[in-house]
Amino acid sequence: MDDLQKIKAENEELKNINLVRSDIISISAHQLRTSLSASKWILKMFLDKDLGQITSEQENLLNKAYESTERMITLTNEMITLNHTEDKILSFNFQNVDLTELLEQTIFEFYGESHKKEIELIFLKPSTPLPRAFVDKEMIRVVFQNLVENSIKYSNTHGKVVISIGQNDSGIEISVRDTGISISKEDQIHIFEKFYRTENAKQKDTIGSGLGLYTTKKIVENHKGKIWFESNEKGTTFFVTLPLNN
Ligand code: ADP
Repeated sequence: MDDLQKIKAENEELKNINLVRSDIISISAHQLRTSLSASKWILKMFLDKDLGQITSEQENLLNKAYESTERMITLTNEMITLNHTEDKILSFNFQNVDLTELLEQTIFEFYGESHKKEIELIFLKPSTPLPRAFVDKEMIRVVFQNLVENSIKYSNTHGKVVISIGQNDSGIEISVRDTGISISKEDQIHIFEKFYRTENAKQKDTIGSGLGLYTTKKIVENHKGKIWFESNEKGTTFFVTLPLNN
């Protein structure tokens, strides 16, 4: 076998190893999510008192178990998305999507969370409808979810989150502005790195993966879009632009 053939064979082997690795992650994450979802619904039945009355002390503990199960489900969802983004780019399902509607749906999902923290959630949308963008709807939903979730998660009570969508020369631009804990200058260069979490974020929200923004950036870049942010002592704004056709 000459050198070139050797390299080709090694390359092929690496590709196969990568596929197996990706499948193992995918299968484990899906199984983990299924078991966690089952536990979550059992806990919910107790909390909803479907199985009889519970004391306030029991309710308190069950609430904690419920919340941590939910967090684990979020983490497994992130693993599944990341795996999908890193290894299965070709299986993206592009279609014409109304991003205003998708963003509105996403914001709606977070009303409960923002209400709990007494955070004002404002959506600014243009008076005339925007053209549809050619994107993978479920992947862009993940982008919107990560940004809106972070803006609430890293805000203090009585904060304000303003989400806007509009059109400019680059296509559709989305921004998510919060009045939260801010990202220091030293942290800013690392923010899109895999597993990176700032110290103040760890103190505020102890369970987080540091995978959300990494995945978000990958998805945006796979759509030939751009993501960036600005942060100062008043808070942080994330921006995303997505071309109408890519
Ligand atoms: P996670 O939220 O699970 O920690 P992310 O990848 O979504 O992971 O975010 C990475 C880090 O970026 C967070 O841990 C936090 O330090 C910082 N961050 C993200 N969004 C914001 C925000 N809106 N305000 C302040 N810090 C943020």
